[in-house]
Amino acid sequence: MSRIAFLGLGHMGLPMAVNLVKAGHEVHGFDLMPAAVDAARAAGIPIATSGADAAHEADVVITMFPAGRHVLEAYEGGLLAAASPGTLFIESSTIAVDEAQAAHALAVAAGHRSVDAPVSGGVVGAENGTLAFMVGGSDDDFAAALPLLEAMGKRIVHCGGPGLGQAAKVCNNMILAVSQIAVGEAFVLGERLGLSHEALFDVVSQASGQCWSITTNCPVPGPVPTSPANRDYQPGFAGALMAKDLGLALKAIEQTSTDARMGRLAQQLYAAFAAGDGAGRDFSGIITDIRAGTV
Ligand code: NAD
Repeated sequence: MSRIAFLGLGHMGLPMAVNLVKAGHEVHGFDLMPAAVDAARAAGIPIATSGADAAHEADVVITMFPAGRHVLEAYEGGLLAAASPGTLFIESSTIAVDEAQAAHALAVAAGHRSVDAPVSGGVVGAENGTLAFMVGGSDDDFAAALPLLEAMGKRIVHCGGPGLGQAAKVCNNMILAVSQIAVGEAFVLGERLGLSHEALFDVVSQASGQCWSITTNCPVPGPVPTSPANRDYQPGFAGALMAKDLGLALKAIEQTSTDARMGRLAQQLYAAFAAGDGAGRDFSGIITDIRAGTV
C-alpha cells in the first residue's frame, strides 16, 4: 500500500485516483477548482488543504494537470520542497518533451525520484482502468511506479529515459492525426467517385490502408456503429485535445529539425479545426470540413 498525493482531479485525474483507492492505496487529493474538489469528495477521496500539504505526507505524488506550465509552476512553487526526500513523482499530464525533462531535473535536484507517464485511452480508459501508460525514467523508478500504473491501466510501456514517455505520446498522436485526415480525405474522394461508404470500408479495413482511424474511429456513420460519426461527432477524443497534442509534436519537430511535413500540416489543419466548433467535436469530424473544403 502506498500513500499517494493525487493532484489534478479533473476528467482524467478523478477516475484514476478512484482506481488507486479501489486497489487499496491511501490517496489524498487536491485540485484548485472547487467543482473538482466537490466531485472528488463525493467519490470518497479525502482532500488536502493544498498540493504541498498532500505531498508532505506522501510516498508518491501523481500530477494530472492541463499543461506543462502547471506542472513546472507546481513543482517550483512548493511541491518538491514539501515532499520528503526520495518521494516518487509520477507526472501523467500530457506536456512537451523538454518540459517533462525539466520537471524530472527539478525533481532529482530536490532529492526525489521521477518518471513521466502520460496516458492514452481517454476518460473511458481512466474510468475502466484500461489506460495505456508511456513511461520515461530509470529502470528502478519505472519498477517503483509499475504497480500503481497497473492499478490505473492495462498496457504500460517503459519507453526509455526521462521525457521519452512524452516522446512516444507525441509520435503516436502525430501518426493518429495524419491517418485520421487521410481516411477522411479517402472517404470524401470515394463519395465523389461514386463509392459507397460500406464498400470502401469493406475494402480498406481488410487491406493495406487499414488503421485505427478506419476500423475503430471510422469518420462516416454506418460501418462502425460505435464510432463518434454515429453520434454527430460527440467525443471520443476532442479536437481541442488533438490540437494541443499536435502543438507539442510541432515543438518537438522544430527542436529536432525533423523533416516532418505531414505532421506539420496535420498540426495546421487541426489548429484550424479546433479554432471553430471542432474544439468540442471528435477529431474524426474533420471529414466534414474536408468535404466542405473549409480546412
Ligand atoms: P482537466 O482540465 O479536466 O483536469 C485538470 C485539473 O488539474 C483541473 O481540474 C485543474 O483545476 C487541475 N489543476 C491545475 N493546476 C493544478 C494545481 N497546481 N494543483 C492542483 N490541481 C491543479 O483535464 P483532463 O481532461 O483531466 O486532462 C488532464 C491531462 O491529461 C491533460 O494534460 C490532457 O492533455 C491529458 N489527457 C487527457 C485526455 C482526455 O481524454 N481528457 C486523454 C489523454 C490525456
